[in-house]
Amino acid sequence: MFTAKILTLFPAMFPGALGHSLAGRALQKSIWNLDIVDIRNFAKNKHKTVDAPPFGGGAGMVIKPDIVSDAIEASKPHSKIIFMSPRGKKFNQKIAKSLVQDASITVLCGRYEGIDQRVIDYYQMEEISIGDYVLSGGEVAAMVLIDACVRLLPNVMGNCDTTNEESFENNLLEYPHYTRPAIWNTPDGEKITIPEILTSGHHKKIKNWRLEQAKNLTKARRPDLWEKYNKNNK
Ligand code: SAM
Repeated sequence: MFTAKILTLFPAMFPGALGHSLAGRALQKSIWNLDIVDIRNFAKNKHKTVDAPPFGGGAGMVIKPDIVSDAIEASKPHSKIIFMSPRGKKFNQKIAKSLVQDASITVLCGRYEGIDQRVIDYYQMEEISIGDYVLSGGEVAAMVLIDACVRLLPNVMGNCDTTNEESFENNLLEYPHYTRPAIWNTPDGEKITIPEILTSGHHKKIKNWRLEQAKNLTKARRPDLWEKYNKNNK
């Protein structure tokens, strides 16, 4: 069973969003397992201090290496350790796919200014960022990463075609979706219909139309993906 082990100073934040909907149902069905380690349990003084000011001065506090290391050693991760960090490699669908190949992942969530560099280097952690912005902590970032991984596990999504056609498969963004009613009365009284082809019942034509839509969207919004798509489909 795929296990996500989280090392955090805020264990109460989990399962959070991961306890709902697709990921939550899969968790209940034991398709995956969430193991939370409270880093603060490894604090060494009665005040449960886990951080200290940075050497060299500067703003904020840094999480101490000995405490993180004790938390890691006690929880014996059998997987590489991912450190959620804005300095890391940008997370994407390809990384999610490679992470679910492993039986388990261990995710370390930073807080404050971050974690002492020595512990990151010692455990050869893989630093992963969820985007070019700074969050207050790694917990929300860890949830993003785990959610993207869990939905790729077998038997999590009802229909495997769903993942096959999703954005980033084949370097394309997904085509637009429409559902009932076929005529939508907007708040300002306009009647908006759906593309006719979708009610034609002609599966091959619908498939081609969707592919064209996906291509147009990708070309307009993500020239980087469009370039890769063209390269692979020459
Ligand atoms: N001082 C750090 C810097 O400038 O790079 C930011 C520290 S941030 C306030 C605290 C923690 O939030 C980080 O150690 C990291 O675990 C997490 N975090 C913040 N932004 C993130 C991002 N974009 N992706 C992943 N984790 C992030």
